[in-house]
Amino acid sequence: MYEFAVEPAITKLRRPGVIITEVTAGSVSDELELRPDDRIVRVNGRPVRDYLDFRFQTAGETELTFRVKKSNGETHDIEFDREEGEDLGLMFEQIVPRQCANECIFCFCKGNPDDARPSLFVRDEDIRLSFLYGNYTTLSSITDDEMARIIEQRLSPQYVSVHATDLDVRAYLLGIEKDRADHVSEPNGCARKGTEATAG
Ligand code: SF4
Repeated sequence: MYEFAVEPAITKLRRPGVIITEVTAGSVSDELELRPDDRIVRVNGRPVRDYLDFRFQTAGETELTFRVKKSNGETHDIEFDREEGEDLGLMFEQIVPRQCANECIFCFCKGNPDDARPSLFVRDEDIRLSFLYGNYTTLSSITDDEMARIIEQRLSPQYVSVHATDLDVRAYLLGIEKDRADHVSEPNGCARKGTEATAG
């Protein structure tokens, strides 16, 4: 059982790992004494940034080692086996959306009534949410790490708002410099093969 959802972005220092919010009674995680507020920071030696990393690094694995920061400050390495396909019985904190750095002339957030629900004011630009929920991004501020992650974890399809293929026009529409308007060229030689983009 897994859970993930979007919540309005907040400004806070993000600590490494992903925080457990619920542990199913009687599950393997319960037997391992994992508890809400524990933070899983590594799986089989690899760092965990969020729920997606956890899912990617545990998928198909029957021999697992979790590095866990307990809520009391202790760090434990927990080695265990699970049956193939056995549910770990964990639920996690929500993904906090990365926000856009655009000033689109048509931005829907600016058109919201003041009393619209708070989630409608979140200017998300997040490749994880594009993969999970089909949210659109503009790729105007994607980092090399994010692009590498799309490729490694096959976070496909990605939904990309193109609007215009002429870079001057696209830069004008998105309210950005022209060098950020190019969503096709490969940043720093990072090959985009292995991903499938859906334009909107
Ligand atoms: S990408 Fe443009 S339309 Fe979307 S939230 Fe940002 S400024 Fe608004």
